[in-house]
Amino acid sequence: MYDLLIIGSGPAGMTAAIYGKRAELNVAIFEKGAPGGQVLNTAFVDNYPGFKHASGYELASSMFEHVLSLGVETKFEEVIDVKDFGEYKEVITTTNSYQAKSLLIASGTVPRKLRVKGEENFIYRGISWCAICDGALYKDKDVLVVGGGNSAVEETIYLSSIARKITIVQNLDHLTAEKSLVQKLKTISNVEVLYEANVLEFKGNESLESVIVKHRNEEKEIKIDGVFEYIGLIPVTHFLKNLPILNNQGYIQTNEFLETKIPGIFAAGDVIEKHVRQIVTATNDGAIAVQSVLKYINK
Ligand SMILES: Cc1cc2nc3c(=O)[nH]c(=O)nc-3n(C[C@H](O)[C@H](O)[C@H](O)COP(=O)(O)OP(=O)(O)OC[C@H]3O[C@@H](n4cnc5c(N)ncnc54)[C@H](O)[C@@H]3O)c2cc1C
Repeated sequence: MYDLLIIGSGPAGMTAAIYGKRAELNVAIFEKGAPGGQVLNTAFVDNYPGFKHASGYELASSMFEHVLSLGVETKFEEVIDVKDFGEYKEVITTTNSYQAKSLLIASGTVPRKLRVKGEENFIYRGISWCAICDGALYKDKDVLVVGGGNSAVEETIYLSSIARKITIVQNLDHLTAEKSLVQKLKTISNVEVLYEANVLEFKGNESLESVIVKHRNEEKEIKIDGVFEYIGLIPVTHFLKNLPILNNQGYIQTNEFLETKIPGIFAAGDVIEKHVRQIVTATNDGAIAVQSVLKYINK
């Protein structure tokens, strides 16, 4: 039986693994994709202390190397169910099941889709949620970015050195990204922002060719080679449907000690109900959650 099983190897899960292992817990971490989580989908990170300007890949790799250097057991398996048996918890993956005294859920979020006409036809055939993964496909081409928050502006800045022109479609009359990013964006000449605009439809044949946008009172068709959507997040909690720990938006409810309503089940990072979803807040959660795990196990 493990002391602690961690679901998700993003910044929250990896931090918890480091703190857990250093506290001599028998700990394992599950990952269904690649270690790093959303950080891997981030072109650059300028706000994580100690890294003035890191690529997402670089930061994620450093964290994972740290985890491996401590000898944390890493299981590349997708968790599909979690059961609470009081004194112990069971984690069921697509291939195995495991038992532990405690469980930390750090499964993060996935990007929200626009859900407008034509979108399903062009997923990964013109529509993407990851500029660092797919940006190179649009060298010297025209790209549309949907959204106006930090992710949309950061990724636009990244794409601006690859694409010919980028049009940002933002539903509000201003960008909500932090000031320094907005200032940087203003210095870039191949970016146009359409405020109070919404994408209504994606059009094309084999791949995406154009987008219908409603800009204030005018509907227009914009010829485009690719679209990147950054319009929000959805918590990854479908595998927890049998546990009464979610709010009505699917985020996990915790207290300040990162405890859920179920003793022995903790949660950390973007997957919890919180105000600021960033790498530094995810790592913060991972560290706090392990202190609560230790208290629970040693009670
Ligand atoms: C485009 C973009 C740019 C960003 N830029 C910045 C930035 O510049 N600075 C900053 O601080 N933050 C940035 N963020 C936010 C930051 O990436 C997140 O806040 C952070 O990654 C959250 O960490 P996490 O560990 O909670 O979750 P995640 O990073 O989402 O990691 C969760 C992990 O859990 C795994 N997982 C999920 N379900 C299962 C399952 N059932 N079984 C096994 N594994 C599972 C996932 O595969 C994933 O690896 C950005 C985000 C995006 C999308």
